[in-house]
Amino acid sequence: MAKRDYYEALGVPKNASEEEIKKAYRKLAMKYHPDRNQGEASKVAEEKFKEAKEAYEMLSDAQKRAAYDQYGHAGVDPNMRGGGGGPEGFGGFSEAFGDIFGDIFGGQRGQQRGGRQVYRGSDLSYAMEITLEDAARGKEAQIRIPSWDDCNTCHGTGAKPGTSAKTCGTCNGSGTVQMRQGFFSVQQTCPHCRGTGKIIPDPCGACHGQGKVKNNKTLEVKIPAGIDDGMRIRSAGNGEPGTNGGPPGDLYIEIRLKKHDIFERDGDDLHCTVPVDMPTAALGGEIDVPTLGGKASIDIPEGTQNGKTFRLRGKGVKGVRSSYPGDLYCHISVETPVKLNDHQRQLLRDLSDSLKSGGMKHSPNEKGWFEKAKEFFR
Ligand SMILES: [Zn+2]
Ligand SMILES: [Zn+2]
Repeated sequence: MAKRDYYEALGVPKNASEEEIKKAYRKLAMKYHPDRNQGEASKVAEEKFKEAKEAYEMLSDAQKRAAYDQYGHAGVDPNMRGGGGGPEGFGGFSEAFGDIFGDIFGGQRGQQRGGRQVYRGSDLSYAMEITLEDAARGKEAQIRIPSWDDCNTCHGTGAKPGTSAKTCGTCNGSGTVQMRQGFFSVQQTCPHCRGTGKIIPDPCGACHGQGKVKNNKTLEVKIPAGIDDGMRIRSAGNGEPGTNGGPPGDLYIEIRLKKHDIFERDGDDLHCTVPVDMPTAALGGEIDVPTLGGKASIDIPEGTQNGKTFRLRGKGVKGVRSSYPGDLYCHISVETPVKLNDHQRQLLRDLSDSLKSGGMKHSPNEKGWFEKAKEFFR
């Protein structure tokens, strides 16, 4: 009999997300549960369930899914499941529920492989501090991350040389024990051997029975241009190793932006404060402002007030998912001159007298303010 397409078996499109695949399988597992399919119907249900289970196992594993997408059924062999061998019986319900409801019950996700519970390794996170310039342009970075290698002393067995691991008596080596949880009978990790199915009476001293030792390795990381503070880069498979041959977890690199001397980033926009001397603010003129791409200049009009903002379009950062770069906002800070000599003081006094003779017309803010103050004290 020709095998049905896995996507068809689950009733999901080829581009279905992990979540959609899981949902579809969960629905089918409920539908074909033996509690709901007694007598004649149970035979069909069993077949349907097996089909859905196989499809789910293949499509929920990114590597197997990729192989299936490329080569079809020839690319993946559901019977190749490391160790064990032999066709699997239809005992898979509690296993399916243990797995798929694992995250509902808050349990660890595990699946059977060669008779033992296998677990995906934990995810790791790594905080990386980068400059605003690097974040805007992107860069290649090298980081040191932990890696795990087989222990040289025990060659990965975890047992002291000359001794060996024994089968766990609690679970008879299966790594799981049956527990009743409401209506379901759920397989749980054996508390004695913690799912490995083995007990090591004499642990290896070098690795404390883990079979693996922690080392370091260098990882090349590509930081995409436009990345922002708080974003994470996923490096698949670089987390902690799995248990019993389970897949490793992922590494998440969390980006932190270093404080910049000049710019403050707000999404794709940048902000900076530009000091302008009093005469330029009063008379107007061209001033240089820094941008990530080099110097730019803005024309300050005559009579520019402190706090005035000028926007330079497109001189911000082009975000990871943006089509256009943001803008650069230059906030003008008019500086009061300091350390004056006698001559300069005199010039300012003369200027002050001259301005006073013009009434309030030379001080647009002061004029409004005095009127409000007068109201207030009345
Ligand atoms: Zn060892
Ligand atoms: Zn056990």
